[in-house]
Amino acid sequence: MSAAIVRPLLDQGRLPNLKRLIDRGGFGPIETISPTFSPVVWTTIATGRPPNVHGITHFHHAWPGTTQRVLFDSRFRRVHAIWNILSERKIPSAFIGWWVTWPVEPISGVMVSDRYVFNRLRFGEGEVQPADVGELQDQLYPASLNESYSRITVQPASVTTAEMATFIRGPIELKPSLQLHDPEDELRLAYAQDETHLRIAEQLLSTSAPPRVVAVHLQGTDTACHHFWRHRFPEEWGRQFTRVAAEEQARYGHVIDAYFEYADRRLGDLVKRIDDSTTVMVLSDHGFVPGMKRRQAGGRVTIISGVHEQNTRPPGLIVISGAGVQVGTRLEGVSVYDVTPTILAMMGCPIGRDMPGKPIAAALSPAEMKRLRYVDTYDATLRPLPTQLKITARDREKMDQINNVYLDDSGNEEAPASQPAATGGSGKR
Ligand SMILES: [Zn+2]
Repeated sequence: MSAAIVRPLLDQGRLPNLKRLIDRGGFGPIETISPTFSPVVWTTIATGRPPNVHGITHFHHAWPGTTQRVLFDSRFRRVHAIWNILSERKIPSAFIGWWVTWPVEPISGVMVSDRYVFNRLRFGEGEVQPADVGELQDQLYPASLNESYSRITVQPASVTTAEMATFIRGPIELKPSLQLHDPEDELRLAYAQDETHLRIAEQLLSTSAPPRVVAVHLQGTDTACHHFWRHRFPEEWGRQFTRVAAEEQARYGHVIDAYFEYADRRLGDLVKRIDDSTTVMVLSDHGFVPGMKRRQAGGRVTIISGVHEQNTRPPGLIVISGAGVQVGTRLEGVSVYDVTPTILAMMGCPIGRDMPGKPIAAALSPAEMKRLRYVDTYDATLRPLPTQLKITARDREKMDQINNVYLDDSGNEEAPASQPAATGGSGKR
């Protein structure tokens, strides 16, 4: 969520469900951290600890003692995440699609890993085949949910042209396999993931005793902003970079707004299923600024026009609404470090003194503020690092290719931009 996108849509009444939450609670920017890579920031949010402590410092790393590059996964997280803390206190929770949760951990409640709808390793090969979906082990906890969840899973191949027409104007051709860096393919994949995550959340919230904490991750807002920022702000983009062709403008000019409207509609479907005693938090791990990056795949170059890496650190947005939240609060000085302490306070759990953040006072009732408790740390001993690559033989074979496509590519984001990355502009409003 970026203010440049969300504020005009709110003003135009196009995000009615988010608006209702804002009217009943607090709303403001949320400071993020550097490097602003999703695995790093979402792990920081979930642990309340800095990257050098929690251990997820990038998309990928060298396997200990070797030069083999592998994607970070949950086994490399050295400290408690909020789902571990809740679980140890027998508080059931559900975490759906949260970054760096594969392989899933056994918790009190439900975990749907970030690789449930697609195997990130396969995307590294440059494409996702429908057969790859569900192939990877340890994607769901408990595994017994596989049967019921597979019935509501949206596979990228089953997304319809009508669904894609929600976002894209003009004729739509759905290829059987998805190409890495192809803007329409990436949008379709993100939509399939998001819709699956949302359906699982809906199902969980519809049960007679839903988990006490339910978190659902949406990826498509990020994907849309990366690929279609220049189509959303064509005049600004034309002044800073190159003019967007009229044909492309017509096709993609609405993608970002339409994706936020879709997310808002589905947010409404979730909120419908909860009662007034429940607190709702909607947040992004960062915002966006305009910036040019080129991506090469399938023999052609695509342009990334919305960025959040390269030390731009654009703040995200946070909305907190519901029981105990002071109405009409302008949230200020909130950081990604504050989310876990706030949830712990709401759930009556002690906050780690080694967490740099603080509970968001405006989100807590005076009684909750009075009841705040602390422990020195949840991590007197760090979680041990894995000693074995938990991947199939086929995965292992493909590691070098991944290195060449996905990993190098995301790694480049850390290097100084070869194109001048824009600062200021619409993303920072
Ligand atoms: Zn991103």
